[in-house]
This record gives sequence, C-alpha cells and structure tokens, in this order.
Amino acid sequence: MDKRQVKRVISSMNVDMGGLISRQPLPNGPVQQLDPFLLLHHTGPKTFEPENRGLPFAPHPHRGFETVTFIFDGAVEHKDSTGVQSTIHKGGVQWMTAGKGIVHSENLPNSMIEHGGEVEYIQLWINLPAKYKSLNAKYHGLQKADIPEVSLGDDFSKVRVVSGSYDGVDGAHDSVTDIQAFEIYLSANGEVKLTPPTDHQVLFYVLEGDLEVNGHQVSAHQLVQFSTEGSDIVVQAKTKSRMLYCTGSIIDEPVVSHGPFVMNTQTEIMEAMRDYQSGKMGIITL
Ligand code: MN
Repeated sequence: MDKRQVKRVISSMNVDMGGLISRQPLPNGPVQQLDPFLLLHHTGPKTFEPENRGLPFAPHPHRGFETVTFIFDGAVEHKDSTGVQSTIHKGGVQWMTAGKGIVHSENLPNSMIEHGGEVEYIQLWINLPAKYKSLNAKYHGLQKADIPEVSLGDDFSKVRVVSGSYDGVDGAHDSVTDIQAFEIYLSANGEVKLTPPTDHQVLFYVLEGDLEVNGHQVSAHQLVQFSTEGSDIVVQAKTKSRMLYCTGSIIDEPVVSHGPFVMNTQTEIMEAMRDYQSGKMGIITL
C-alpha cells in the first residue's frame, strides 16, 4: 500500500494565556500552519481547585475561520452574540463557524468554578476559504451521546466520528469545508489504518501514549506533519493512546491573521477590527 510519508514530528511548546498554560504544537517553529489548520491548543489534564478563576476567555470576537473545541474532561460553557448559551460536557465538541463575525465567551460552568474538577480539552482553529469568510456565524454544540463511535475491538479502542465518515459511519457535524475530525482511542498493541481523502492535509496530534505512525516513533504532545501525497496512515499503539486526527482540503489562499481574526488581506483585518469595535459583531446579552 502507498503510505503517506511523515515529513516532520513536531513537539509542543507551552503558551501562557492569562495564567492558563496550554501546549501548542501548531503554530510552532518552521510549521506556521498546516493549511487549512491554523492553531492547536491542548490544555490539561489539569485539576482546577475549588473557587478557581475558570478559563481566561472573557467575551472576544472571531472572524474568518472556525474554532472547534474537543472536550476530553470537565465541561466548557459557551455564550455568544447570536444568543446561544451552551454547556458541553466530557466527550462533547463545540464547533463554531465564526464566518463574518461573532463575539463569544468560553469558561468553565459555574459549578466547576465553585467546586473544581478535572479539565482537558483541545481547541483547533480551522481556516475558511474567502468564499466562506462572510457566512453567518453558527455554533453547533455536540454532547458525548451525539457523536457516533466505531469500536476497534475492545472497550477502550474506538474511533469517535465528529465530522466526516469512518467505516461507513457518518459524523455528527456536517462541515462546510469537508473537514474530517476523529478522536481515536487505542489500547496497548492496538492498531488502526486511516485513509485520508486524496489531496487533503492531515492533522495528527497525540494526547496520550507512545505510537508508531507509518514507521515513525511518536509520543504524547507531538504533532505529525505528513506529505500531501500518498494514501494510508498505519497507527500502532505501544501503550494506551489517545489521538486527534483531522483532514481538510488545502485552501491555498493568502493568510493574514491578527489575534482572533483570520482573513486574506491586511485591509480585511482593519475592517474586522473596525467592525468589532463598532459593535457589528454583536454583544453577549445572556
Ligand atoms: Mn474564542
């Protein structure tokens, strides 16, 4: 079989966001994006003590891309300027298409701020092509039970199909840009073969475990960059492992980003800043 060649194995750096430390394998060093994937933050597993300060994500805007939050432990409460308030628990996903603009806050629910608890999540930023940057903003909250699972032989080993399809099972989210997004769980000595769509970029991040991926050793908190040619990815777990695997069409447009805005030109960034400041992206009234 024609395998996808591993181009690089990228370790995470730590980033400090208002006192919250997260791992960031993307962007990092020579890999500033894996078109269409822009940024990955992995937070936790981490214990929040009782009477904690929650997450440092008070109301802020986004325009021009999607933010997808995979919640592996704890819960995240989202509120936004379209009037949505949504708390998603362990095993769920928050898929937000910012499109032409939205203001949202992301925090632990009040009960977790009061009593504390375990938290682990990934936030992934996925770019939108120019033709979709002006879509109306849309939030899609998926609880654990909404996401189909395909067993890989034992209780732990499975593919959770968030978006796209695996082994004939359709995901819970209908991606506007054909993104595939799977959470993959393997017991020690477990194996899975993945076949990304032709010409899709692959994002492969290890949350936990030691693996061999198309013959390369990969460990927890590393991101694998693959060639965009070739077909199969064979993943063999040496220890109990958890991974995030996504694929997407390469957009191949200029990327100009400034904080929470990702556009094609500097002029569009200036427009975004002006539109946010003048209230055109709305306010949270919840
Ligand atoms: Mn945000």
